[in-house]
Amino acid sequence: MNTSNRFGKLFDEATSINEGAAEHGQVGSFKCETCSPIRRRGRKLTAQDVEVMRWQAFYGASVSELTNDYGINDRTVRRILVGDIWPTAAGPLRSKGTPPRPRQEALQALLNREIKPDHEGHIRGREYFQLNDDGYAVINKNSKKVRVSRIVLKHFKGPAPADKPIAAHLCRYRDCVNPDCLYWASPWQNMQDKYRDGTMPMGDTHPCARLTERQVILLRLVRPAWKECRRWSYELGAPQATIYSAAHGYSWKHSPKAPLIVWTTAESVDEIPERLRAPNLVLAHSP
Ligand SMILES: [Zn+2]
Ligand SMILES: [Zn+2]
Repeated sequence: MNTSNRFGKLFDEATSINEGAAEHGQVGSFKCETCSPIRRRGRKLTAQDVEVMRWQAFYGASVSELTNDYGINDRTVRRILVGDIWPTAAGPLRSKGTPPRPRQEALQALLNREIKPDHEGHIRGREYFQLNDDGYAVINKNSKKVRVSRIVLKHFKGPAPADKPIAAHLCRYRDCVNPDCLYWASPWQNMQDKYRDGTMPMGDTHPCARLTERQVILLRLVRPAWKECRRWSYELGAPQATIYSAAHGYSWKHSPKAPLIVWTTAESVDEIPERLRAPNLVLAHSP
């Protein structure tokens, strides 16, 4: 079997695919039984190869399939398909404007306000974009990953003010890209948001924690005096001052599970000064 016969047969098969074949799934995954096992890598392309390649693409073969079939890189395949290379060879050409990728389309739709928020009023980035390790929606821009929230904010509210460089969320979804959920924030505002969302490392989740929340709950119940804290220090393997602070509410102020018991004559929490009203405050009255 000589080469020209082989490709002649492939070409005949490729061009003789009728409309009925599409229904049987033969068009997109078209492979000639005679030729497909033969590795063509390293062999120079002929005008006939190029013609066949263009027909394969016309009937739905992907660029990566053609890359494998012909042993040439994807950039060369694309240039052949649009006619940049081999302009004289036959076969149907693709239009040169490469269709934008779906994510870029989604971004454009987002900036045109064509994507409607879900029933909760958010536009979850995970449905349209890639998420980075931190859970934020990102998109490729000049071969770098950029947060979609920053692009959206810049588009709708202008570039970030010098003192408010952070694209922050009004809602608690990190991947939300609804322009109505976003604002330029100062680092201070962003930290307040983290307290609000419970994403600020505190208590157990803080990397420097010397005590666990269970231990703090125990200490709050016992409320050891300073001298007794020395014994607890040996027991729990934390410094005496750490024990005392946790037990008496100078630290772990934000732990709602460890009630901060305060002996007071006040009848209700409203009588306590606002800055001292921890969320876990429990008033106790001496008998
Ligand atoms: Zn063949
Ligand atoms: Zn939102």
